[in-house]
Amino acid sequence: MFFSEISASLYPWDLADEGTERILDNLQEMALCNSVYLIALMHHEKRPLTDFFYPHNPVRKTYVPEDSRAYWQPEMPRYGRIVPQTSGREFLKDTDWLQELVEAVRARGLKTGVEISHTVIDSERAADDLSDCVQQDIFGERMGKCVCPNNPDVRDYVRALFCDLAANYDVDYIQTCLIPFQSGPPAGHAARRVLSSVLGGCWCGHCRAAAASDDLDLEACHAALLPLAESIARPTLAQRQEGALLGASNTDETAVLLEHPELFNWLGFRCRSMTRFFAEVHQAVHEVRRGVDVRLNAYITSRQELSGLDLRAMRPHLDSIRSSDYSEQSGEAARLEHKRRWLLSVRRAVGEEMPFLSAIGVRPKATPELVRRGVVISAECGADGITIGHYDGAPFANLRAVGEGLRMADVELPDH
Ligand SMILES: [Zn+2]
Repeated sequence: MFFSEISASLYPWDLADEGTERILDNLQEMALCNSVYLIALMHHEKRPLTDFFYPHNPVRKTYVPEDSRAYWQPEMPRYGRIVPQTSGREFLKDTDWLQELVEAVRARGLKTGVEISHTVIDSERAADDLSDCVQQDIFGERMGKCVCPNNPDVRDYVRALFCDLAANYDVDYIQTCLIPFQSGPPAGHAARRVLSSVLGGCWCGHCRAAAASDDLDLEACHAALLPLAESIARPTLAQRQEGALLGASNTDETAVLLEHPELFNWLGFRCRSMTRFFAEVHQAVHEVRRGVDVRLNAYITSRQELSGLDLRAMRPHLDSIRSSDYSEQSGEAARLEHKRRWLLSVRRAVGEEMPFLSAIGVRPKATPELVRRGVVISAECGADGITIGHYDGAPFANLRAVGEGLRMADVELPDH
């Protein structure tokens, strides 16, 4: 078995605090990394994510990043109505962190890349002058700061982000885990989960127009599904009883989709929308630079179709895929069966030819034992490499366990 890539992700503040060279030494020595990328458009999320404090940051115990800032120097003329915002923090704002990392990684002869993470606009603009770019639920309410992939300004913006990075930085891959369509609230029961997707996005005017050119009457769909949405969001006592019956029954997804064919049509339309969105990005990036790899960071590890992601349909518009399953950090060995099933699901969807990296959760409560098992399972499920999530929160024992797992899995790595 051969693994072509062992990648790891870094944040600008990791570079500022720990020092780029020290981090790269650690990643190469402990985890045998040959690919390092910067999460260069990052959402508002406390770091480290899954533990109280950083395990090895010498400067601070925690860090709360600004909302959806870009940590490179954007080429502003590329952008239209929506432009990226850069950091206002003193210790970050005067450095092109992407350029810094790319140069350091290249000097070591390694592969490098960049990630556009979950959100591309901040909450303030989403609530104000960019509110029309945000997904709408079936009741017409704005859904946080999740942009609508059918909105032309959003499409221009995301395309420009990718093209800016491809044109101006020596990166091998551009990866994204942009939040797709909102999928509605979770529900334990499979059929109830499918029905609750009606509370997801998007029902905006741009979706209505896109649906029309897709031969779907979104207004008729809306009228047909509004009572279902009401019955889930604000159920009467009788509706609550029916929902409870469904939840206790073995009625499955097929049955409820036959009861609500409009829901099926809408779910299909959302998948086609996301596929078109990636097709546009892929084509535009390759016009800028042919060799750059467009990588989906697939972070929704079950029922991704409810978010509009049909991996098999997207396959022609992706160059590689990263599974973002971090089951190791649950601390439960049984959870690794979820990892196994998800990895097989991705491989089935994208085929044997597509380069496919499997993430390994290295943060607490992952243990060295679980990390090693995660690496072995990744090899068994046909991955072409692994990808570590994330360095900032990883105890060094877990990084070393990545290297140990690679030896246990008996995988061959490229020479460096
Ligand atoms: Zn929309």
